Amino acid sequence: MLKKNLGLNTICTHVGEIKDERFKGAVSPIYLSSSYEFLDVDIKRYPRYFNTPNQEYLSKKVAALENAQAALIFGSGMAAISHMFLAFLKRGDHLVVQNTLYGGTVNFIKEEFPKYGIHYTFTDGYKVEDFENAIQKNTTLIHIETPSNPLLTVTDIRAITTLAKAKGIYTSIDNTFASPVNQNPLEFGVDMVMHSATKYFGGHSDICAGAVASSNDIIERIWNVSKNLGGSLSDMTVWMLERSMKTMGLRVKTQTKNAMKMAKWLNKHPKVAKVYYPGLKSHPEHTLAKSQMRGYGAMLSFELKDDLDAYKFQKALSLIKSSMSLAGVESTVISPHLTSHALLSPEERAKVGISDQLIRFSVGIEEVKDLKHDINQAIMAI
Ligand SMILES: *Cc1c(COP(=O)(O)O)cnc(C)c1O
Repeated sequence: MLKKNLGLNTICTHVGEIKDERFKGAVSPIYLSSSYEFLDVDIKRYPRYFNTPNQEYLSKKVAALENAQAALIFGSGMAAISHMFLAFLKRGDHLVVQNTLYGGTVNFIKEEFPKYGIHYTFTDGYKVEDFENAIQKNTTLIHIETPSNPLLTVTDIRAITTLAKAKGIYTSIDNTFASPVNQNPLEFGVDMVMHSATKYFGGHSDICAGAVASSNDIIERIWNVSKNLGGSLSDMTVWMLERSMKTMGLRVKTQTKNAMKMAKWLNKHPKVAKVYYPGLKSHPEHTLAKSQMRGYGAMLSFELKDDLDAYKFQKALSLIKSSMSLAGVESTVISPHLTSHALLSPEERAKVGISDQLIRFSVGIEEVKDLKHDINQAIMAI
């Protein structure tokens, strides 16, 4: 038996290992069976029931990382979000959702909710008053994202859960940007925490997966919906995700340190108009971030000065790739107005503060001096 209260890197490395009793191999075996014994067994295992050996054991690692009783592993971050939402929202219910949010979540709500007769309100901002104003009599769930994509706003997790609990409303959080290395929202009273495991859990830009962690009761409620909707992850990928997660603590801590150095450097750069990073003292919610995060994460955004073309800048980078996704060991950049927020109108983008000069920067594990050099040479080239 593993002892309780293990440290981060020990959890990453060991919790949820499947012991190879037969051959004594050092790593978990992969069980690829999609068919298991049915008669006289305690657990009826089936991939879409989220309970094959690899799924069951990896969920223990995720739960341990979020100090949760239980977790489910999904085929994508959006599968995790959609199954979680549909477990807590039925026809006639109302969702209060933060306005600064991952673009795919926005699309899911706007495109799918009307078909199910589920109501929703996007808040005007990310302050607790904005959430309070958006609550209606039929609100059953509040969903927040902090730090948020792509402007790294920080929402007061304790204030939101206090507000929700007083009104008997459930709360969920997208903890993808912080990762469990930097933030554990269940400690502040959130009911459910979800991750796009495609990001820091995977960390090598080669896995698409998702996860939700919560209490046993809530995970069972989500599971009851998930087993009908499908959306489980194949065991081959579950196994790869286990391998990736062994180094998550090492990777994300290095990436977080690099991000802090890059944010400070960019903040003083003559060709940069503005930097968005919760670790900077100039960030409007720096003190709040400090009170709920162990580290400020490895995502930041910056605006280039108006005389620099953001598209040409990205093309001129040589080490740092432009990429849709984020959180890999390699540094990447993207223009949010061309990707995650492309479906919003220019007016809607302006309202949430996403300009054409904005670059979202996912900081990797490279040497900081090389990242600085690449940015400077790209600026010189254009
Ligand atoms: C990527 C991402 C998602 C969606 O995850 P997928 O694995 O792409 O489905 C959700 N939230 C955030 C913050 C993300 O970055």
